[in-house]
Order: sequence, then structure tokens, then C-alpha cells
Amino acid sequence: MPADFPALAINGGPAAVPADDPAPEWPTYDDAEEKGLLDVLTSRNWGSTHGDVVATFEREFADYQQAAHGTCLTNGTLAISAALRAAGVGVGDEVIVPPYTFIATASAALFMGAVPVFADVDPLTHLLDPDATEAAVTERTKAVVPVHLAGRPAAMDAFVALGARHGLTIVEDAAQAIGAAYQGRPVGAIGDLGTFSFQTSKNMTAGEGGVVLTDDETLAAAVYSTVNVGRVRGGGWYQHDSVGLNLRLTEFQGAVLRAQLARFPALQEIRERNATLLTTLLGDVDGLLLAPEDPAVTAHGRHLFLMRIPALAAPGRRDAALRALAAEGLAEVSSGYVPLHRNGALIAESKDIAGRLSQPYPVADCPNADLVSQDTIWLNQRTLLGSEQRTRAVAAAIAKVVAAADDLVGDE
Ligand SMILES: *Cc1c(COP(=O)(O)O)cnc(C)c1O
Repeated sequence: MPADFPALAINGGPAAVPADDPAPEWPTYDDAEEKGLLDVLTSRNWGSTHGDVVATFEREFADYQQAAHGTCLTNGTLAISAALRAAGVGVGDEVIVPPYTFIATASAALFMGAVPVFADVDPLTHLLDPDATEAAVTERTKAVVPVHLAGRPAAMDAFVALGARHGLTIVEDAAQAIGAAYQGRPVGAIGDLGTFSFQTSKNMTAGEGGVVLTDDETLAAAVYSTVNVGRVRGGGWYQHDSVGLNLRLTEFQGAVLRAQLARFPALQEIRERNATLLTTLLGDVDGLLLAPEDPAVTAHGRHLFLMRIPALAAPGRRDAALRALAAEGLAEVSSGYVPLHRNGALIAESKDIAGRLSQPYPVADCPNADLVSQDTIWLNQRTLLGSEQRTRAVAAAIAKVVAAADDLVGDE
């Protein structure tokens, strides 16, 4: 332990993060959500088939992300499924996804009978690598789902070009990237379709919810039909021109989301300021790696603050570091995703579909995902909403624990 750091709190030193300055509560709400919810309640139009609150939010959100069309639905998982279905992805088609992401990115393809195929991530950004993606394309590939992980946009110029070269649909998984922009363009409709989540942990929430954005009128109509039991926008109640599900959002959720969207830019400014401060304070810490700056990332969604600490890859050490951080007063730290190309359930179901069709299912080779899944820790957006003083204390706690990383021992 270097002399310029005080003793770790687990060893009896002073905690870096004061207990009387906790991370702000999440979600936030005020009179706007209360009034919106009461207005829906008393209107008796609780479903979006009879009210216009969800429809109004769809227009507002699509405008915010500069997309021509937005269709809300129950969650971000089925948003990916609906986007794939709208693109014509079906049984046995391959969908290339990154292995370092939330499981929904891959399982969404399986719900459509399609097979998720894993291509590796960039070890510095944790984002899907366009070259690895290109190498994974087969004659069965129909779509690619780059994930704007943590809120950082994936390399969309490369993915759009790759889609054009191979005739593939590009679906942006923007669940963590509300407000993010790539080369000045908000994410969501840079690819063919983009999907968002309004689940509780996300930067904007109605408890659950999601939306699919696109600039393409035909794809938008197909998403609408999938969400609305095969109905046609403007068509008859019992006119079902395709087979769809009922994935509609309620007007209550629409009301909450309208209020959340109005507040979003102000909260995003706080997250951005704190993330920039953390980047400055942690950028020079020995043994800690942050994603490099990229001029193409013109707005970061600031959902997660990812850090790689290679010394924590040793068995048991990362868990020990999380315990040390909790003792420092920083309990809200995650050890991140378990890589999906090693998830037994996903592999079994993928092999089952491929096997029924006598198609090969490749063993994924994703060494970078294996690497980053061992040494990554992250802070979430709630931590990024703290005061400047708390953010400085959070950085101090992390620097202190990283400096002692080699001495941390696991339970086993
Ligand atoms: C949250 C999330 C989803 C799924 O959204 P839900 O609304 O929870 O279904 C999909 N992809 C990513 C990257 C996510 O973070």
C-alpha cells in the first residue's frame, strides 16, 4: 500500500465516501408525474388504444432522438424482438450480437426463432467490434445488433457500411443510450431500427417500457402491427393483416414517460458533468483503464461508468475489491456481465434451433469478452447523479482500493 493513501476502511482506516451523502434516490419524480398519472386515471382512458398520451410521447421521444417514427411497447427486450421481426428476421436466420451485454440482446433473437451469433468486443470500449462482426457473417446472417453499451455509441459508420455491403439489417440496442449521439446524430435511427428501454434502472423510466425508432415508414408500420395484434395503423379494430402480439404500453406509463423526458436533459447534464470529473480524477490512476476519448462520440448516454482494473482478474480479487469499496461507503458498484457466449441456456437453445434446421452453430471465440468480463467494474447512472463533492469522494475511494489491489485477498 503506497504511503500517500490512507488505510482502507476494511483495515480500520477512514471511509472515503461520507455516509451522510448517499447517492440520490432513483427514480426521481415530482408534480409532473403525479399530475400526468391523475389525468390518465380520471380520463378513464387507461389503455393506449383509447387515449393519446402514449402516442404523444412516441412523437416527443422520436423527435428528441431525431427519428421519423417511434412505437412504444412493453420493454426493451421485446423491442429488439419486434425490430428483428419487422426486418423479416425469422426461424434459423443468424443475428450477430456482442457477448458483453445484457442477456436480452441475444435472447431477443431466440424469441423470433433466430440464432444469436457472438462476435467479439473491443477490449478498451467493451463495444462490438466491426471487424469481428464482418468475420462472423455467413449466408444465413440477416441482422446485426450493435449495443451502445454504457451509453457510448457503437461504431455506427462501420456498421451501416457493413449492413449495406452484406444486405443486413442494423438494429441499434440503445437501451442504455437515451440522449447519446454519434458524429452529431442522436442514436436510434442511424441504423435501420433502434430500441430503447424504460425499465427501472435505465436513465429514464416508467418502471417498465420500451420504444422502437426508425426512419423507415414500412419498418415502422411492421413494428406497429407486431405491437398491436397485427392491426394496421388507421385500419379496422378486427382487421389483422399480419400476426402480431399485444405489446402495448399503458397510458399511465406514457404519462410518467412524458414527465421523465421533460426532466431528462437536466439530469443528463449532471451525469455528464460527474462522469467528466470522474474521467479526470481516475484517468491517471495506475492500474485502472478507461475507454479512450473518441471524437465520434459527440454525446455519451452516461448509463454506466465502466472501468477495467487488470489486477482484479485474479480469482476472488474483484469480489474483495467490491467489499473494500462498500466499506469505503461505495456500495453501488457492480462486477458487470457474465459473457453471453458462455451462457448455457443461450447456447442450448441456439444449438437446438440450428440442429432442427441442420445448420452449424459455431463455438464462439471471444477472448476480449472473456478478458473484460474478469476485470471490469462499473458505477451506474444513479451514482453519476450525486453531488460534485460525493463524486470526488467516489473517485478517492476507487483510487484507494485500486492502489491496494495487489494486496486484496478473496474468501477462498
Ligand atoms: C435493459 C437492457 C435491455 C432490456 O430492456 P428491458 O426493458 O429490461 O427488457 C436490452 N439491452 C440492454 C443493453 C439493456 O441494458
